[in-house]
Amino acid sequence: MIDILSLYREELESLILELGLERYRASQLFSFIHKHRVERFDDISVIKKEIRASLKELFYIPSIVCKKKTRSNDMTTKYLFQLADLANIETVLIPMKDNRYTICVSTQVGCRMGCKFCATGKMGFKRNLTVSEILLQVYYILKEQKLKNVNVVYMGMGEPLDNYDNVVKSIKILIDEDGCNISKRRITLSTCGIVDKIEKLKKDLPYINMALSLHCAIDEKRSYLMPINKKHKLEDVMKSLSTFPMPRRKRITFEYVMIKGINDTKEDRKALLRLLSTYKSKLNIIPLNKHDLMDADLEPTEKRNIEEFAEFLRSKGMFVTIRDSKGSSIDAACGMLATKNS
Ligand code: SF4
Repeated sequence: MIDILSLYREELESLILELGLERYRASQLFSFIHKHRVERFDDISVIKKEIRASLKELFYIPSIVCKKKTRSNDMTTKYLFQLADLANIETVLIPMKDNRYTICVSTQVGCRMGCKFCATGKMGFKRNLTVSEILLQVYYILKEQKLKNVNVVYMGMGEPLDNYDNVVKSIKILIDEDGCNISKRRITLSTCGIVDKIEKLKKDLPYINMALSLHCAIDEKRSYLMPINKKHKLEDVMKSLSTFPMPRRKRITFEYVMIKGINDTKEDRKALLRLLSTYKSKLNIIPLNKHDLMDADLEPTEKRNIEEFAEFLRSKGMFVTIRDSKGSSIDAACGMLATKNS
């Protein structure tokens, strides 16, 4: 049986033709599945019963089970989803300004990158998510919350570029005009920096928003926080990002989880200035969110020191924001996603 949700429109079309059905049936089906998000072929009443029967012999429509939903006092909602093999993943719905929402999706069960401050990294790597498992996180929330316009950020559990093919395919399906039709401008992919995959992405998905989990501008310390830095040196990552085709007026976002005594010193802010001064960049400082799995030596920087750090960089002309740690009370904030029984 074929997972129909994981197919490009063109792939669906060739299978529909092989079944001896008319070409337009493929667009019709694609739209019912990705735009109207039907969960059963029998709910597509415009398609005759006999045709639905032959579709059911070849395809299935996968689904996802929401095991738990937790809402924090800032209205961030964390979903715990169970997949077909009983693995669990988490997805976060974050309210933004002007009645907009952002859905933060996971791309792997666990993660092999081992960033020191990250709860997902502590889980180790279990497996990649399939295309449909990525899409279903978005579709479930859109349907449940009756939302139309959302931003989608690939920043949940897992390193998106470590599950390259499925992540790229899921984004291409999300932006398909006959499907969910989410604008590329509303999709952000966040990576810890895998150079060959960033290079590939330039050809496969130019003009999406890119974010780099930077967390330190000094190589040695970055390698301590993020082991991937030993393989993909910051200099090479930055060089690769400098030629990433970006949407007009957009900046590359650099995420910076601030950790007391490790990356919040005067030396660090000078290194950041040197690194980012030639980039059209936005530095997003994130207060460290403590979680049960975190090493005891990591402590958050005090609020006033974060503000002073940001102010110094702003005074030198950098665009700096300090992110609210939305969802921290329900372990849904940055670096806090982890499932216990997956
Ligand atoms: S921060 Fe991202 S890349 Fe690093 S361990 Fe966590 S999920 Fe993986």
